[in-house]
Amino acid sequence: MEPKLDAKIPAGTLAEKWDRHRFELKLVNPANKKKFEIIVVGTGLAGASAAASLAELGYPVKNFCIQDSPRRAHSIAAQGGINAAKNYSNDGDSIRRLFYDTVKGGDFRAREANVYRLAQISNLIIDHCVAQGIPFARDYGGFLDNRSFGGAQVSRTFYAKGQTGQQLLLGAYGALMRQAAKGMVTLFPRREMMELVVEDGRARGIVTRNLITGELETHAAHAVVLATGGYGNVFNLSTNAMASNVTAAFRAYKKGAFFANPCFTQIHPTCIPVHGDFQSKLTLMSESLRNDGRVWVPKKPGDKRKPGEIPESERDYYLENKYPSFGNLVPRDVASRNAKDQCDMKKGVGETGLAVYLDFSDAIKRYGEGAIAGKYGNLFQMYEKITGENPYQTPMMIYPAVHYTMGGLWVDYNLMSTIPGLFVLGEANFSDHGANRLGASALMQGLADGYFVIPYTIGGYLAGASFGKTHAESDAFKQAKNAAGERVQKLMGIQGKRTVADFHRALGAILWEHCGMARNEVGLSKAKGMVANLRGEFWEDVYVPGNQSDFNQSLENAGRVADFLEFGELMIDDALARRESCGCHFNTAFQTEDNEALRDDENFCHVAAWEFSGEGRPPVFHKEPLVFENVALTQRSYK
Ligand SMILES: Cc1cc2nc3c(=O)[nH]c(=O)nc-3n(C[C@H](O)[C@H](O)[C@H](O)COP(=O)(O)OP(=O)(O)OC[C@H]3O[C@@H](n4cnc5c(N)ncnc54)[C@H](O)[C@@H]3O)c2cc1C
Repeated sequence: MEPKLDAKIPAGTLAEKWDRHRFELKLVNPANKKKFEIIVVGTGLAGASAAASLAELGYPVKNFCIQDSPRRAHSIAAQGGINAAKNYSNDGDSIRRLFYDTVKGGDFRAREANVYRLAQISNLIIDHCVAQGIPFARDYGGFLDNRSFGGAQVSRTFYAKGQTGQQLLLGAYGALMRQAAKGMVTLFPRREMMELVVEDGRARGIVTRNLITGELETHAAHAVVLATGGYGNVFNLSTNAMASNVTAAFRAYKKGAFFANPCFTQIHPTCIPVHGDFQSKLTLMSESLRNDGRVWVPKKPGDKRKPGEIPESERDYYLENKYPSFGNLVPRDVASRNAKDQCDMKKGVGETGLAVYLDFSDAIKRYGEGAIAGKYGNLFQMYEKITGENPYQTPMMIYPAVHYTMGGLWVDYNLMSTIPGLFVLGEANFSDHGANRLGASALMQGLADGYFVIPYTIGGYLAGASFGKTHAESDAFKQAKNAAGERVQKLMGIQGKRTVADFHRALGAILWEHCGMARNEVGLSKAKGMVANLRGEFWEDVYVPGNQSDFNQSLENAGRVADFLEFGELMIDDALARRESCGCHFNTAFQTEDNEALRDDENFCHVAAWEFSGEGRPPVFHKEPLVFENVALTQRSYK
């Protein structure tokens, strides 16, 4: 019988759902909390905030990460800011407006109840982080300052220069280390989760590989929390940290956790363009820059003049012209597609023609160089270091790049996956952002999940479940450990001729071309075959040097690329099944007269959730219908 996807959305009005739910959730007696061990995989904003909060409540926590310190999680890279509905700018913001903007920004493919809760919690996050001492920017009077991000007409983004993620992560890390010092959190850095262990139908532990010694270890617990980040690196080139991967989520998928909307990938409009075949990483130029930077291209296709030689009358400020209400601050999917369209019309700039200008000259004239440096100094410095050009003197050149993944493991309102006892937080889950994430809302979601949602919902699970005894030597653990060991052996045993990086590049090129900013059935079908062939070649011909009982980053990467090669096909299946356009998923067959995404609400107003059905078998499709009772489903317009 088909398993039902029950989102467990509480009854009541939107505004009272979360409150009512917290009251109805069972509580764990404080004296009993020490009996429930919890594994948290990930130390980014979602993982560190969850581990610290759960330990603060009295649960013993084991916390794992790939990096040598929890502080080096990818969240540290976040630049621009974090949203909250504080309305400090007094410009008309409210919880309802943040909720509405987020649902609309996601092109009506997110769950209303989750998004509303996120907007409610957003305000608590700011208070919490201020109490931690996060140095948010302040205005001249000492109040917290705000700036604007895409898809909103109010200023609700709190920021710490261009280092918001770093500062927030230091706060969460401080809270985490306080619990580590108290013995409530045991840290396991340099560990990679290789398998999830499911026993008696519940998530009961994980198998990890010690990345320094190569040893496989088993860890048992009463619940497992995955906060392992997004899978944008499936495209090879992305703005994600090099270690970001899909492995933990994909291993859980293979054990029964459904994967939701895997084709929803955010392409961010303002990144430094690709400059060579052997590049391994792309750099984001924060969306906050679009507060003051103006996007333009030459009106004439093929115009090779320097930007300073092109007069105003021959420039096309295409976002301002096409979307007068939102201008340069249209959402990311819209800005990215428009940049691509301009380049497709041969109006792109720079050597490759795959770039548009982001020009600060007007802002510098108006506010002075010092004021602009005060807001974006570190971003300008980063740009100059990478490109050798001074953005105070000449416009930046930017182009869209893979940045964030809205898809992820399916979770219900409690953030629990389809495997009882497996919770998924932050970018690793699919919730809240629908088909397109608005800027500054990932940090908000990760911290909402970790500081304010999981501490309640995991208690409800633990208090209501009856647990059989398990230990890290049980059959289920042994089997999972053997499976992880065999996989490592297999990768080491091939000793072929092509490097892991070579396969990764090839996979990325296929997905970027056919499952990137624009997709269509022909391209996707072709890509499916190409990915399957590439996967076959990988398992025949990959070369992993070194050995397995040592620090071996080629081996680490081989495991991750192996999962990406399978996961890539799931993304394509998902993109093929969604025969509409919405947000980031732009199928060229479904567009409005103005070339905007054309949704099909009658047939696709749902979350697509995929179930693993065995090696070599197609995944099984399930849908969670999305019901909109509080916002009207409209054609998204930013004009
Ligand atoms: C350049 C850049 C700038 C950004 N700027 C902003 C911004 O200004 N505002 C905003 O809201 N969002 C921003 N984002 C998005 C945001 O940073 C991320 O979505 C968010 O930080 C993800 O947090 P997370 O805790 O879910 O995961 P991550 O921070 O990615 O952490 C993942 C953790 O899981 C661990 N892990 C992963 N796999 C395994 C495994 N198999 N075994 C063990 N451990 C594992 C990692 O070691 C790490 O500790 C930005 C993203 C990028 C790339």
